[in-house]
Amino acid sequence: MKHIVIIGNGISGITAARHIRKLSSYRITVISSETKHFYSRTALMYIYMGHMNYENTKPYEDYFWKKNKIDLVFDHVNKVETASKSLQLQSGNTIEYDSLIIASGSKSNKFGWPGQHLQGVQGLYSYNDLLQMETITRKTKRAVIVGGGLIGIEMAEMLLSRNISVTFLVREPEFWSNVLPLQDANLISRHVRSHHVDLKLRSELQEIQADENGWVKSVTTHTGEIIPCQFVGLTVGVSPNIEFLKNSGIETKSGVLVDEYLQTNVEDVYALGDCVQRSYELPGRKTIEQVWYTGRMMGEVVAQTVCGEKTKYQPGPWFNSAKFFNIEYQTYGNVWPDLKAEEDEYYWEHPSGQKAMHIVWNKHSLLFLGINAFGIRLRHECFDRWLREKRDVTHVVRHLREANFDPEFFTRHENEIQESIALKFPSLKISSLV
Ligand SMILES: Cc1cc2nc3c(=O)[nH]c(=O)nc-3n(C[C@H](O)[C@H](O)[C@H](O)COP(=O)(O)OP(=O)(O)OC[C@H]3O[C@@H](n4cnc5c(N)ncnc54)[C@H](O)[C@@H]3O)c2cc1C
Repeated sequence: MKHIVIIGNGISGITAARHIRKLSSYRITVISSETKHFYSRTALMYIYMGHMNYENTKPYEDYFWKKNKIDLVFDHVNKVETASKSLQLQSGNTIEYDSLIIASGSKSNKFGWPGQHLQGVQGLYSYNDLLQMETITRKTKRAVIVGGGLIGIEMAEMLLSRNISVTFLVREPEFWSNVLPLQDANLISRHVRSHHVDLKLRSELQEIQADENGWVKSVTTHTGEIIPCQFVGLTVGVSPNIEFLKNSGIETKSGVLVDEYLQTNVEDVYALGDCVQRSYELPGRKTIEQVWYTGRMMGEVVAQTVCGEKTKYQPGPWFNSAKFFNIEYQTYGNVWPDLKAEEDEYYWEHPSGQKAMHIVWNKHSLLFLGINAFGIRLRHECFDRWLREKRDVTHVVRHLREANFDPEFFTRHENEIQESIALKFPSLKISSLV
């Protein structure tokens, strides 16, 4: 019987395994060295904050795997030998495959800072990182987080939940302004500060110093400022976890290179999720996308292909969501940090500084290009449809109310937004309807 081996039991590998099981009776083996069972990585922060325990983060009960004939191997793949179609495991065991699916995820970036390997310095990616953070921060009074992205802000919220003071070193002029336009990023900077985080913008880590026992005692910034601390969180992004593929013959750049069927250059070897770099372009999408839902989509797609129905990966318009303390963020389409020459934009912010909307369109064709929403929930289905149907901005603004997903008793702002955009851009002809 055909043997499908999957490296990685995260959302990508597990979605592939589940869908292959639905479509076939192939033998399926999932190998992972992080945890025995699949858990939700996005819930790590809630374990630390006491809202959940590890068991609650497992989407499936432990009996699910045996019942569905999915073999789980808790081991590390040291080497992939594509010529003999076999894997060398840390335990000394060898596993042979007919088809291999690599879903090995990401690892936290470290940029060679002096002191980055000291005790008390870590990233946040794995369950083990969480356990380590749990132990180390028991006695932490002050922490420094380096890098202002989505994992950094989660780490700040985690530490604050235990009354640990947080200093945030962020290289950009505003929080996450390498991704968000300045207005949006400024709103988030203000919100972060309102949570008593010592946010230092345009600030870079120079060096981490140790005490006499090898534990972190302070960091120095590029301006020479010394900040005493007992914990340093390095949250300067993640990159594909692919070192073990060296010399395997599987082509990699920053990630494992795949074609539109998620196939690598080697026959019967596929790759999915965070570890992947698409070798071809898709409009409005990056070639490496390290988010939960793309891993899940890829898992569904590859299952079809492996089971004989060759299927292209077509993720459609970009979307994402996150939370910055109390402010929920959603993005649909493309709102780049810098407005492009052919684009126009409208930014609306509520006086509370807790809600905002940023709409971008093509100034010549009026084609709607993307939206960022903060503190206002939008319906994914509406924006996905409008983007696929290539609607113009007038249509989108006129139908904003339809896209609002806030609970009934929430204050609505569509009229206000429509009126002010109509005033600023009379040529959009929105005013006739508001
Ligand atoms: C703290 C945190 C919060 C996040 N929050 C969000 C969010 O809110 N929304 C969102 O969209 N995304 C979020 N992400 C990103 C999201 O979790 C990832 O995009 C997703 O988990 C990637 O899934 P994956 O299956 O591709 O890889 P992973 O989940 O990384 O799974 C890969 C697994 O393979 C194992 N592995 C790797 N190499 C080997 C080997 N050689 N041998 C054996 N096992 C191996 C790894 O240990 C790992 O367990 C978050 C990430 C983190 C760290």
